[in-house]
Amino acid sequence: MMLDEKIIDQKLASKYNNLVKTDDLLPIKVTDFYKKKVLEEINTIGKGGPLYRSVVPTIEKINVKTSVETRDYVEEDKHNPVKNCDYIIQKYDDRLVFIITDVCFAHCQYCFRTYNLSQFQKSNLKETIINKVHILKDYLKINSNIKEVIFSGGDPLSIDYENLKYALEELNNWEIRIHTRAIVYEPSVFSKQIIELLSEHNVRLVFHINHPYEIDSEVENKINEIRQSGIRMYSQFPLLRGINDNSKVIIKLLNKMDELYVRPLSIFISDPISYGAVNRVSVMRIEKIMDEVNWGTPSWINSTRFVMDTTIGKVRRENIIKREGKCLTFMRDGKTVEYYDLDDGIDVPTDLNKLLWKD
Ligand code: SF4
Repeated sequence: MMLDEKIIDQKLASKYNNLVKTDDLLPIKVTDFYKKKVLEEINTIGKGGPLYRSVVPTIEKINVKTSVETRDYVEEDKHNPVKNCDYIIQKYDDRLVFIITDVCFAHCQYCFRTYNLSQFQKSNLKETIINKVHILKDYLKINSNIKEVIFSGGDPLSIDYENLKYALEELNNWEIRIHTRAIVYEPSVFSKQIIELLSEHNVRLVFHINHPYEIDSEVENKINEIRQSGIRMYSQFPLLRGINDNSKVIIKLLNKMDELYVRPLSIFISDPISYGAVNRVSVMRIEKIMDEVNWGTPSWINSTRFVMDTTIGKVRRENIIKREGKCLTFMRDGKTVEYYDLDDGIDVPTDLNKLLWKD
């Protein structure tokens, strides 16, 4: 997708597009709905605001690197229980992730799945959704401990109604959770027909909303409409430098979701992935933001967990067993994993006036 000069310097866009080919980044992709908000932001504070950074690459994204980063920190490709089926990812006994599609409405610049998603998108060996569902169902039938299937992607709501209906009907015996960013990128996707379908199958909907300005009146109305159908709504989002790296932004977002009856679950610490340093926050600041959110808010806000996804599953501050220089060691279920903090000088806190420019 080409964005014009008003949004991105064309030399930068072309440099980024080359990296899409050579370094497996995700192509620039933004919906018209979200682009309008990005333009509103540019017209007020110029380029580089929170919504801008969510979908438009910056020169810092290309240039800022830290000593330890990897393409896929959580190593999803090592957790595929069914041979040759990279779309089934299982890290826990009782649930698994089903990559029902590799298509997203827009590409988030901070996507932790950038590498794997770019591989799915380039693959010539695409399975139909019907085949994927069949293979998944066969696996579920012989693994009775799995109770929940988490539809992820890509954005599961980017698939057409008939395929979604098929998948939900076939997997009716399992709890279904859908992770989506459609609500902020393309809220019109939640048509009456889709809402009825999700409601009928008692789906849990987990929104990824990163910033309070992503919730405008149209998004708010849609969330209200979904709520009236009885669908259980949750939220989780990453902590991202340049987008929401201040406790005031996080608290404002969590309060907004509380008003809308969206239950917050987790705030994710950004993975140390290639081209991800631009969005990462240093451990010292992560802990400061956590404490400000945890100790300065009522229970319905501070019950939100700060977690980090790793090869050994999700870990929290309580799982840290060693701090040595830049290296933190986490332990869970007898297994350990290391996480390296950002190099010094990278994590410059974003100006709150920029993060909350409307307030
Ligand atoms: S919608 Fe999800 S999968 Fe797609 S780019 Fe954004 S974070 Fe990644």
